[in-house]
Amino acid sequence: MAPFPTLPWTVGKSHRQLASRTLDLVIPRLCFGCDTPLEGPEPPTPRLETWLCRPCQTSLPLIAPPYCSLCGEPYPGDLTHDFRCWNCQDRHFDFDFATSGYRAEGLVRDLIHAFKYEKHYELRGLLTVLLRQSLTDKRLTELSLPTDWLLVPVPLHPWREMLRGYNQSRELCIELSRTTGIPTQNALRRNRSTIAQAGLDRDRRLRNLRSAFSLRPGHSVRGRRILLIDDVLTTGSTAQECARILHRDGGAEKVVVITVARG
Ligand SMILES: [Zn+2]
Ligand SMILES: [Zn+2]
Repeated sequence: MAPFPTLPWTVGKSHRQLASRTLDLVIPRLCFGCDTPLEGPEPPTPRLETWLCRPCQTSLPLIAPPYCSLCGEPYPGDLTHDFRCWNCQDRHFDFDFATSGYRAEGLVRDLIHAFKYEKHYELRGLLTVLLRQSLTDKRLTELSLPTDWLLVPVPLHPWREMLRGYNQSRELCIELSRTTGIPTQNALRRNRSTIAQAGLDRDRRLRNLRSAFSLRPGHSVRGRRILLIDDVLTTGSTAQECARILHRDGGAEKVVVITVARG
C-alpha cells in the first residue's frame, strides 16, 4: 500500500482549497493507489480522478448486474431475472435490500483497510465517492432521494471508536450528507463490543450480535426511510441486526443498506 499524502485538515475549507492548489504547484498530487503523480488541476467537485490515476480507476472491481436482489452478491453468469444467492436462501432480512458498487478486492479492499485500521482519515473523500456508486442501483435512482431519506451509520462500540479515532461508517455518512444533501442521523448505538465477525460462520455471527445494538435515546426514525451505511457487507448479519432494531424498536418504514464494497 502506498503512503497517502495528507493535508492540514484542521484549517478552514477555503484555506484548505488554497493550500491544496498551492501544494499542487509545489508537491504534485500522488495517486492514492500507486503513488504516480496525478496530472492536471484537482477537479472542482470530488470524483475518482481527484485521488486516482486512470489505470487505478479502471482496476477498481466494479459490481455490475446480475447480482442477488437481497444482498447484492454478484453472480458471474448471465441471468436476467431477480434471484437470491446461496447466502440468502431461506433467510429473512429486515432490510429491503443491500447494494454495493464494488467488490472488496484489490485496491478497494486495501483502501478500506487503510481507512479502518491504519488511521488514514484522508481516504474518507475517496471512499465516499466509491460509496456513491451504490446509489446508481436502479432501485435507488427510481426513488425520491434525497428529501425523504435519512442516512444512518452502523455504530462502533465507544471503546473501539476511541481507539480507532473515528467511526468509519459515520465519517462516510457525514461526507455523503455533504455531497448529496441527505441528512445523517446517528440513530443507533452499540451496547457491547462484539468479537470480530471475520472468521465466524453465519449462525455464530448472529449469536455474537444479539442485543449488540439499540436505538440512541432522543433519535426518532418512526416512519422514515433509511439508508443504512457501512464500509463492507459480508454475510449481512450486522446490517440485519441494525435493520431489525430500526424497524422493530424505531418504527422505520424502509431500510436499504448501502456499502462501499461487497465482501
Ligand atoms: Zn494509480
Ligand atoms: Zn444474497
